Amino acid sequence: MSALLAGKTALVLGVANRWSIAWAIAQAFQREGAHLILTYQGERQRLTVEELAGELDGAECFSCDVTQEAELTALRSRLEATGKPLDVLVHSIAFANREDLSRPFVETSRDGFALAHDVSAYSLVSVSRTVAPLMSSGGSIMTLTYLGAQRVVTNYNVMGVAKAALEASVRYLAADLGAQGIRVNGISAGPIKTASARGIKDFSSVLDAVASRAPLKRNCEPGEVADTAVFLASDLGRGVTGNVLYVDAGFQIMGL
Ligand code: NAD
Repeated sequence: MSALLAGKTALVLGVANRWSIAWAIAQAFQREGAHLILTYQGERQRLTVEELAGELDGAECFSCDVTQEAELTALRSRLEATGKPLDVLVHSIAFANREDLSRPFVETSRDGFALAHDVSAYSLVSVSRTVAPLMSSGGSIMTLTYLGAQRVVTNYNVMGVAKAALEASVRYLAADLGAQGIRVNGISAGPIKTASARGIKDFSSVLDAVASRAPLKRNCEPGEVADTAVFLASDLGRGVTGNVLYVDAGFQIMGL
C-alpha cells in the first residue's frame, strides 16, 4: 500500500517527550510520508523537542505557547515562510492546575477554570484560525479529547468540563471551516501513561478499571491513537468532520 500522507505537510502541537501522544502521531505521520513541523512550549522544552524532531526526516521545529497571541502570530509567519501549504493540524494540548485534578470539582477556582479552558479548549479555536488560511487545498484539523467530557470521571474535574467545551468547539469549527474543505474532528483516547496523565490523582486506578471492563480487556496504546490520526489526516477520512472518534478499547460503550 502506498504511503497515506505522501506530499502532505502536518503541524503537530503537543510533543513534550517520547511518551506524548503527539509524538506517537508524529512518528505515524512520518511512516506515512508526511513532512512534519513540531512545536514546543517555551525554551524549557526546546532541546527535547528538537532532539525528537531530529529523528524525523527533515522535520522543522517552531516555538508555540498557545496562551501567547504573539507566538501564534509568529508561528503563522514561520509557516508562511516555508512557502508550502499546510494540510494537517494536530492539537494535542491540555493543562489544568494540579490541585484542580485532585480536590472536589466544586472547589475549582475562577482562575483555575479559566486557565484550563484557555489552554485546553480555546487554543483549538485560536490555532485553527491561525492556520486555516494556510490550508489552501483544504485540510484536516484534529484534537485529543477524553471521556471525561461526557461522563463524570473522578478527579478529572475541570479538565472534563474543558474537554466538553473542546468537543463543542470541534463541531462549531467543523461547521465554519467545512466550506473551505477543512475537516475538524476529535479523537477520544482511552487513558495512556503520559506526563499530563500523571498529574491526575489516582490515574493508575483508571487504567486498571479500563483494563478490567473494556470490551477488549486492555487499555489502548498510543500507536492505535496515532493510526486513527493517520486515517483522519489522510484522504481516507475525507467524509468525516465534526466527529469524535473513540480509541479506547471500547470502554465508552459499557454500562452495568
Ligand atoms: P503530554 O503531557 O505529553 O502533552 C501535553 C502537551 O500540552 C505538552 O506537550 C505540553 O507542552 C502542551 N501544553 C500545555 N500547555 C501548553 C501551552 N500553553 N502552549 C503549548 N503547549 C502546551 O500528555 P498527553 O497525554 O500526550 O496529552 C496530549 C493530549 O491528549 C491532551 O489534550 C490530553 O488531554 C489528551 N488526552 C490524553 C489522554 C491520556 O490518558 N494521556 C487521554 C485522552 C486525551
